[in-house]
Amino acid sequence: MLKSISAPRYAAQSGWNALLPQRVPHEQLPKQRRYYAIVIGAGYTGLGTARRVAELIPEKEILVIEASEIGEGSSARNSGFLGVYPNSPHANAYGSADDDAARKIRIVAAGLDWLRSLVKKHKIDCDWNEKTPRIIAAATSGGERGLRSYRRSLETWNTKCLEHSPEELRRFLGTDYYRYGIQQLNHALVQPAALIRGLADTLPSNVTMLECATVEAIGGTGPFRVQTHRGGFTADKVFIANNAHARTLGLLTDRMIGVYTYGALTPPLDTDELNRLGNLPAWGVLPASKMGTTMRKTLQRFLIRSSASYEKESDPEKVRSILTRLFQRRFPGMHSYELEYVWGGVTAITSNGEGYFGELRPGLYVSAGCQGAGVLRGSIQGKLLAEMACGSQSSLLTDRLMLTGPNWIPPEPFRGIGAIARMTWAGWRAGREY
Ligand SMILES: Cc1cc2nc3c(=O)[nH]c(=O)nc-3n(C[C@H](O)[C@H](O)[C@H](O)COP(=O)(O)OP(=O)(O)OC[C@H]3O[C@@H](n4cnc5c(N)ncnc54)[C@H](O)[C@@H]3O)c2cc1C
Repeated sequence: MLKSISAPRYAAQSGWNALLPQRVPHEQLPKQRRYYAIVIGAGYTGLGTARRVAELIPEKEILVIEASEIGEGSSARNSGFLGVYPNSPHANAYGSADDDAARKIRIVAAGLDWLRSLVKKHKIDCDWNEKTPRIIAAATSGGERGLRSYRRSLETWNTKCLEHSPEELRRFLGTDYYRYGIQQLNHALVQPAALIRGLADTLPSNVTMLECATVEAIGGTGPFRVQTHRGGFTADKVFIANNAHARTLGLLTDRMIGVYTYGALTPPLDTDELNRLGNLPAWGVLPASKMGTTMRKTLQRFLIRSSASYEKESDPEKVRSILTRLFQRRFPGMHSYELEYVWGGVTAITSNGEGYFGELRPGLYVSAGCQGAGVLRGSIQGKLLAEMACGSQSSLLTDRLMLTGPNWIPPEPFRGIGAIARMTWAGWRAGREY
């Protein structure tokens, strides 16, 4: 029996979720206890899986179990960037690093197309925007070098992008902090809590949602017994879509670490303050370094995301002061640096940047390891995992099966020492990108 050791809990509400009207979670335990499939976790991965299984086998019943509430998991705590790019492309048994990049780009591009079509079909009001620029900006010479080399790689992968000079960046963003930027054209920016809520509210009718129920154990070998702290269920197939928390069920414990990162939103800004954030009505900026700072001008507010901690959420007041300092550093001329909402969220990181995808044991499927950028990847991999489990073939599924899995990582204390040392080194190297 796989046993859970803790349920995900956060110190503060997601700021994006707080902006939305109150929502009543589906807390009531369903009378039905037997399902064709149970999906654990109602983030992008879990909802992608549940939707696709339900579409492929409309006569079967699917149960999604979520420990928290829709809108309070990492899927609603992120910065809302949906970018089409390959994460850590490298050569493997199926070809070169460029082949790997091409596969990864096809997969995430399909994720963007799929989410766009769902948002359109179900009229999900999530501030979906493909016109607002998504700029990767460098503040240091090292960051600029890395970004210029990345731009050349994008060209090799036939991915169009624009380049931005320091003057353009100053006009767009209202700060002279950055020295070089690139802007990819295939992307979207969203209000992530509104997107995940919209996806949950529009699942096919053969999907039942159970929130505020933590899966504590999975027993059996098909049918599986799925035990929550509020009661048990059985299913022929189980899909693990709780990302870093899969480890609390004893799965992939030697493949992933949990890294917390932090976001904040200001109150609505007046016209004068908004003008200090450049001449565009909205923008998104990603850092040139993994340990750098993300920002958005959105919904008349300013968003900042930065900082990271290993396996444990940092004290919210400490996070507030770090994010305020990073805001001030980039925009020294603002009248106020008040942050209305500050929150943390966990991401699942692997040592080689690859996620786990596949049938771990007969009837037990897993997609996990988002690398801090899982809105598109989680959604499309959830969909592909469902197709794989239902015996549906596609060239995209073949692409996914040709990616490498995550490398082995050592147990504690070596893991923690190694991870903290790597994060500290990367933070130091990031310099002003942080
Ligand atoms: C501050 C921040 C900024 C980010 N910015 C971006 C971004 O701009 N773009 C991007 O693509 N990604 C971003 N990410 C990462 C993104 O949020 C994740 O990659 C994404 O949420 C992964 O989706 P998922 O469905 O795989 O996992 P999750 O969103 O983590 O969903 C898993 C769900 O499982 C539930 N769960 C856990 N354990 C159990 C259990 N035992 N029983 C039942 N349910 C359980 C959790 O409550 C959770 O809701 C960011 C993350 C953070 C924290």
